[in-house]
Amino acid sequence: MLYNVKITTIINPLDWLAPHSCRGCGRTGDVLCDCCKKNISLSIFKKCPNCGVEKSSNFCQRCADFPICFVLGKREGLLAILIHDFKYNSVRAIGPKLAELLASRLPDLPKNTVIVPLPTATHHIRERGFDHTFFIAKQIAKLKGVKVQKIFIRTANTVQVGADKSTRLAQAEHAFMIKPGTKISQTITYILFDDVWTTGASMKSALKKLREAGASNIIIALLATSSLD
Ligand SMILES: [Zn+2]
Ligand SMILES: [Zn+2]
Repeated sequence: MLYNVKITTIINPLDWLAPHSCRGCGRTGDVLCDCCKKNISLSIFKKCPNCGVEKSSNFCQRCADFPICFVLGKREGLLAILIHDFKYNSVRAIGPKLAELLASRLPDLPKNTVIVPLPTATHHIRERGFDHTFFIAKQIAKLKGVKVQKIFIRTANTVQVGADKSTRLAQAEHAFMIKPGTKISQTITYILFDDVWTTGASMKSALKKLREAGASNIIIALLATSSLD
């Protein structure tokens, strides 16, 4: 069988030594078979990522201060396995699958759209050998024919794991800043992308900074949300 593989990044050799099997059904051949992929793409996320209230999609009215948001689903089941294997086991072949799923959920975008990945802590990039958020953001940008740009830098490499919610919120509030010299335009559509919405603290911080800098067209895109029930 021929695989159309475009090598655009350095590939982890382990990805190629181990035969790929579908994380959903175990079928050999691909990290996510078409059938399991279809199941994910058909499941529409029906909760407000911020407060958990049932909603046809997007944030609820109470959380109307947030922009429009696109999420693949809750971090559970197959989606949780895929994100985990991609992030923590560095199975990079999963990245394009997740990117494809999220790209298909996004609407047609203006040509001047910029996808902005939330910055990953440098020690996480070192541990994992790659910047998983940027990796997916690049693929989504390619699929949608738009640009990707790292606009934010971290002002503190704080670790969220283990910290209580209020500490994490306080840390995240000051976690990012816009790179000096970055031009933010009112006419550009910015898609803030992150993998998982946990407390939303990182996203809220990024959103605030981007709005303060003058952006008015902002969309949020997430692989999953896990904070609620
Ligand atoms: Zn499958
Ligand atoms: Zn809400």
